[in-house]
Amino acid sequence: MNIIIIGGGASGLVSAIIAKRNGANVTILEKNKQCGKKLLITGNGRCNFWNEQQDIKFYHSNNIDIFEQFLKANKTKVLSFFDSIGIVSKNKNGYYYPFSNQAVSILNALLTEVHKLKINIIYEEVTNIEKSQNFKITSLKNTYYADKIIIATGSKAYPKTGSDGFGYILAQRLGHSLIPIFPALVQIKGNASYYQNWAGIRCEVKLAYYEKNIYQKEEIGEIQLTDYGISGICAFNLSNQVAKSLTKKQKTEILINFVPWFQGTKNDFKEWLDNQNKKLNKYTLKEILEGFLNHKLVNLLLNLANINEKTTWSQINKDNIVKLIMEFAFIPTEVLSFTNAQVCSGGIPLTEINMKTMESKITKGLYFTGEILDVNGDCGGYNLGFAWMSGIVAGENITKKED
Ligand SMILES: Cc1cc2nc3c(=O)[nH]c(=O)nc-3n(C[C@H](O)[C@H](O)[C@H](O)COP(=O)(O)OP(=O)(O)OC[C@H]3O[C@@H](n4cnc5c(N)ncnc54)[C@H](O)[C@@H]3O)c2cc1C
Repeated sequence: MNIIIIGGGASGLVSAIIAKRNGANVTILEKNKQCGKKLLITGNGRCNFWNEQQDIKFYHSNNIDIFEQFLKANKTKVLSFFDSIGIVSKNKNGYYYPFSNQAVSILNALLTEVHKLKINIIYEEVTNIEKSQNFKITSLKNTYYADKIIIATGSKAYPKTGSDGFGYILAQRLGHSLIPIFPALVQIKGNASYYQNWAGIRCEVKLAYYEKNIYQKEEIGEIQLTDYGISGICAFNLSNQVAKSLTKKQKTEILINFVPWFQGTKNDFKEWLDNQNKKLNKYTLKEILEGFLNHKLVNLLLNLANINEKTTWSQINKDNIVKLIMEFAFIPTEVLSFTNAQVCSGGIPLTEINMKTMESKITKGLYFTGEILDVNGDCGGYNLGFAWMSGIVAGENITKKED
């Protein structure tokens, strides 16, 4: 059986290995001059390739029930696959990395197996696919024929790695529909004038996201305050919902709590500050705040509250500063574009795919893997997780004989 895989990224490489191990004749068509360009930059070059906590709450899809069944059936397959290609991993609080701490170890292990199995890689960009008896695949240079194909072209996120969204067009030409795509895991912009003064601050926070003043979601962790708004894992994990709300022109707001370690209400915090003030006799408010907040942030908060650095706790409007510390209102105006986004939400609907095999329900012999499908995950190894799982399932099933 001749199989062509379009896209030599994370999911394409895995599906190629499994299909070839099962006896198929496999060719990968990759538009870049190398495979796995995106893989090399994952996890800041360290590749967070899996997460121990495979709970459905870390994944997003318009058909999450379908995905839940898929996750249950396939989550045990990933670590044994990586063991089979010699990857020794480290588990850091549930987050899996190669023990070398280098994404290149994951890519090289995949490519070593690809070469040992004598999988053919052709570096050409696919421009069209037609289906009659079999598949006719046109690249910029040649025409190829295959009994079955896998579209593993990724999404539209971070297009300089090769995934420019053209895969969606190929899928649509073969009869599929597309759930609108949005950038996800991306920086959030606002337009307040004081961002110049908070740029460069990194701090642990709790972010609470509101749409039309209704609480939606919370994230705890580190953020970076930048000259355009907010960045970092916590902000990334909210960015997709923010993008969708902004598109609907809904009022969106993120309340930043700069004291996520404090258990209690704003009144409790006011009392706690009262006690600090009593304990730290003769301290200014600035000196008290510097005991637990970033130095640059203290200056900004005092500035916004119109509080002089010599002022003491007893001299001020306490509600105002407490609100700034516990419920700092960040108003998103937009999220950065696909150019910066780590992943996309939306994609080919799961209702059009047999998720037990990854085969299209619309075009027989056509399979999909990875981010082109309507599944995206939070930061933490979930997106690669889906790439591996879907690659394994497609590779296992594409080689099966028809009943
Ligand atoms: C900066 C960054 C950091 C990330 N870090 C992590 C992380 O630590 N953990 C995690 O789980 N996820 C991470 N991700 C997300 C993860 O990398 C992707 O979800 C994953 O690579 C998707 O795999 P894929 O196989 O679907 O697509 P890709 O890996 O994008 O591969 C698609 C391939 O198809 C090729 N292609 C596209 N169109 C054509 C065509 N017409 N013809 C031929 N070839 C084509 C592309 O060149 C590319 O090689 C990160 C993403 C980015 C951008």
